[in-house]
Amino acid sequence: MNGITEYIDEDTEEARLQAERPLHVIEGPLMAGMNVVGDLFGAGKMFLPQVVKSARVMKQAVAVLLPYMEAEKEGKRDSAGRVLMATVKGDVHDIGKNIVGVVLACNNYDIIDLGVMVPPQKILEEAKAHDVDIIGLSGLITPSLDEMVHLASELEREGFDMPLLIGGATTSKVHTAVKISPQYSKSQAIYVTDASRAVGVVSSLLNKTQRQDYIDNIRSEYAEVAERHERSERAKQRLPLAAARANAMNIDWTDYKATEPEFTGSKVIEGWDLAEIANYIDWTPFFQTWELKGVYPRILDDEKYGEAARGLFDDAQEMLKKIIAEKWFNPRAVIGFWPANRDGDDIRLFGDAARSEPLATLHTLRQQTSKRKDRPNLALADFVAPEGTPDWVGGFVVTAGPEEIAIAEDYERRGDDYGAIMVKALADRFAEAMAEMMHQKVRTEHWGYAMDESYDPQELIGEPYDGIRPAPGYPAQPDHTEKRTLFDLLDATTHTGVELTESMAMWPGSSVSGLYIGHPDAYYFGVAKVERDQVEDYAARKGMTVEEAERWLAPILNYRPGDMKAIAAE
Ligand code: SAH
Repeated sequence: MNGITEYIDEDTEEARLQAERPLHVIEGPLMAGMNVVGDLFGAGKMFLPQVVKSARVMKQAVAVLLPYMEAEKEGKRDSAGRVLMATVKGDVHDIGKNIVGVVLACNNYDIIDLGVMVPPQKILEEAKAHDVDIIGLSGLITPSLDEMVHLASELEREGFDMPLLIGGATTSKVHTAVKISPQYSKSQAIYVTDASRAVGVVSSLLNKTQRQDYIDNIRSEYAEVAERHERSERAKQRLPLAAARANAMNIDWTDYKATEPEFTGSKVIEGWDLAEIANYIDWTPFFQTWELKGVYPRILDDEKYGEAARGLFDDAQEMLKKIIAEKWFNPRAVIGFWPANRDGDDIRLFGDAARSEPLATLHTLRQQTSKRKDRPNLALADFVAPEGTPDWVGGFVVTAGPEEIAIAEDYERRGDDYGAIMVKALADRFAEAMAEMMHQKVRTEHWGYAMDESYDPQELIGEPYDGIRPAPGYPAQPDHTEKRTLFDLLDATTHTGVELTESMAMWPGSSVSGLYIGHPDAYYFGVAKVERDQVEDYAARKGMTVEEAERWLAPILNYRPGDMKAIAAE
């Protein structure tokens, strides 16, 4: 119950000698302990990091007992049910999935974890082969939402009838209700907010007497959610693209003199010091990863979460010391700057200072929601000077490196999921911290438009500085395919080893990329939903078919793509 694994081998051996059979140690004291942990977790009196540590005790004790059980040919202990878990095709993120797997496993469910970037066909095959009771899908980036919709329709087509759990950062109850649930009528797709809900959902689904009621309730709830969503979307006023453009942000460029960067083109940045990067870590998202809600450092003294937060933070500091001392990660970075000018909703980049050699075009999307007076309909291009006024745009890719993957696997092999999740969570923190540190160096050195800036690393988290580093796939530019342009410009894969998957996720997962925009009035915003007129225009600018653009922009379309006549006839 306290998650302590010191002397676990000796303690387990002592229990084994006292028990009639090794299985009884599992079914007796170990399960009894996990039941208490599960109850306290369910009651909000124990928290995720503590649960994962207790699960580690269980797993390592079972590993001690296993050889004796095999010798006695004891049958497998009864499992509460079988759950298949997978991060969908094109997506590499698995911290959340792994956490849910651990929590379910310590409630006696068998977990078949297919890992990351799992093609739909493989999910179907393995679900059949293992005769699983439930399928759980995870994903972090927006293209994964469409993968989940696709998988639901494949399950339907092939006649599957087990419930489908949906989780991960960009998933939501609305998306599950509106887009996934209607594809899967033979059973039900269910959105699971976080790991603390997973056990409740799974046990309701596997309880023969509750199951149908539970599913019926969800189905009617989702029908309502979908309807409410449709009504609220219809109520929102959206502008034709031309009107949105007429209301673009009007920066006065007449006296603007952009600072010229110290170089143009791309440059590999070397000499990363893990200890220095660590000073830039924003710890608040680290606690979020472990489902402890609150702002660092206040969370350490929080009445509810404080004790769990302190324990987690101590463990993180201990691992952090090793990461730094033993150089676990191999950070890499490439940045670039290019002469740039705005051209409508696009940003043209040039290979020369005279801006006569076109190099590439960055495409941006414009907000189409009707704005209150004085509020512009923004596109990122608005923050870049038009032809005639010299300006520059930059870009970056940073990564903590792929080392985290092998290190996490090593922890897993030793029955230490806590360590495996911890090292991935810290690798993510290092990547974000590198992005923060790189951005500071860019402002004070490489681009040099804020040479005198002198913020402490921790002050940067509040974004007090001039300029932004918008990331493709994020709200200001929801189109992930813009990463392709950025990666090509920087030759990022050669320089950093970071690759783009078919869904434009970055592999390894602990990588960050984005543009640098220097204008002091630039800020982060959300494009939100777009209309067909903009998608057609955007597709033409990008040299994509409208269908292709609609596929990438699926989560932000404010209309149902497809044949206009068929829709009108409905
Ligand atoms: N300190 C945090 C970083 C927060 S995310 C951490 O360590 O996790 C901040 C980054 O997300 C920004 O630097 C930017 O790259 C990206 N971002 C945030 N909001 C955005 C938006 N609306 N559009 C584009 N990118 C955005």
